[in-house]
Amino acid sequence: MIRDSKPLREKVADVKTRDSGNTILQKAFPGGMLTIVGSNSASGLASTPARYIFGDERDRWAASAGTEGDPWGLAEARQASFYNAKSVEVSTPTIKGASSIESAFYKGTQERWCHLCPECGAWHNIVFDDIKFEHTVRKHRNRKTHKVTFIGWACPSCGVLSSEETMRRQPAKWIPDNPEAYNDGIRSFWLNAFVSPWASVSWTRIAEKFLDARDDPEVLQTVYNTLLGQLWEDRGNIEDGDTLLARREEYPSEVPDGAYVLTCGVDTHDDRLEYEVIGHGHYGETWGIRKGMIIGKPDSPQTWERLDDVIDRVYKHQSGKTLTISAAFVDSGGHYTQEVYEACKARAQKRVFAIKGKGGDGVPYTSPPGKVPIRESKKVKCWLYSIGVDAGKASIMAALKVQEPGPKYCHFPRGEERGYDSSFFDGLLSEKLVLKGNRWAWEKISGHTRNEVLDCRNYAMAAFRILDVDMDAYERRFKGQPKQPVHRQPQVQRKPRRDVFDDW
Ligand SMILES: [Zn+2]
Repeated sequence: MIRDSKPLREKVADVKTRDSGNTILQKAFPGGMLTIVGSNSASGLASTPARYIFGDERDRWAASAGTEGDPWGLAEARQASFYNAKSVEVSTPTIKGASSIESAFYKGTQERWCHLCPECGAWHNIVFDDIKFEHTVRKHRNRKTHKVTFIGWACPSCGVLSSEETMRRQPAKWIPDNPEAYNDGIRSFWLNAFVSPWASVSWTRIAEKFLDARDDPEVLQTVYNTLLGQLWEDRGNIEDGDTLLARREEYPSEVPDGAYVLTCGVDTHDDRLEYEVIGHGHYGETWGIRKGMIIGKPDSPQTWERLDDVIDRVYKHQSGKTLTISAAFVDSGGHYTQEVYEACKARAQKRVFAIKGKGGDGVPYTSPPGKVPIRESKKVKCWLYSIGVDAGKASIMAALKVQEPGPKYCHFPRGEERGYDSSFFDGLLSEKLVLKGNRWAWEKISGHTRNEVLDCRNYAMAAFRILDVDMDAYERRFKGQPKQPVHRQPQVQRKPRRDVFDDW
């Protein structure tokens, strides 16, 4: 802004001059100084007295500045010596109940930008609930696009529809819901994109963005927060096990059309391995293929040989072709870390990799692997991937909420041998996101005992992410001429086909 605005540029010395008081984080000007501080920097927040403080994107601030506690509190403490101090908080709202800007808004005058209804003369702020629209849907491959054909605002007082063009020309003013807060010296204001002066956020565009996001809770949250200016209510797990059990499908083959890549997630226990094989298609749509358990200790070679049976298996695709597992992630946490490293190293050619789950908000779902030594050896090393399990759980739960087949939808098969029974869904929904202080954390729901199911799925989904596949290319391999029936060929001793993934 300083660079592009002449009046400002004249007040702040050029960066090139020495001792100009102009650095990236500090800008001196006649009569004052601007200091920019990150919300996670306790020393920065505690260093200088400040008359004015301005907190941008408050809902995305660190919960604590290092170990020093609430960063906004630390910043406000800088104002103690000013009788005429002023502080401003600004933010896109985020999650209901965990939003700093929400609490701050309700402490203030709660002013909303209200427009005059041209029909009845009532004043209202334009909210999404009162926007009425009609639209058409076009389906291209698995992706739906929406086109809004008509849109208007229905006045809550008289019900008459007015167009965007009309409403933009109507008089508007701030109206407070809580005028008492004037006495406390706190004013608060709320706006959404419907009153944005920028042409790029027309009502039509907002409604189309909403429609496009409707089936994807993660994107929908962004639309709620950034365009509608509304808090997102995350209910942890909307689905219950019975609903998911009832929506299982009869697959026409072992791997149905739509799924073109298989991955496997393995959870390691002292007495067994649990695994899930998942099929992946376009735009995050998944098909549960098989959930199973291998009884045996992880220090016994037989246990891993039985896992080989799962990983080397040739799966039959609906197209008549076959496919094998592209990558498997094996949990190395627990009492058998070294055994897992050894087993994975021996299977690295098959893309069987050890992983270490890492909890915590903000840990990325997948990151590039590192090498770890096996048994204090300096030479023998094994690849280890670090998995942000919380990010994974959030994305799995979001996908489970998708109601219609298409992007992100999770298909589950019927059939006892597949392993998708009521205990599977009980395990899948065994954890929910709860608010602890002002941080979200995953917690086991009482009554649900196992969460291995969720872990296996988490690892299998992470394994798919590291593959970074070109799904169109994979799809083409299955859409060609189906292979001749193979039933006359001897099935035993057939080497697993790897050709589909040779380019990896
Ligand atoms: Zn009206």
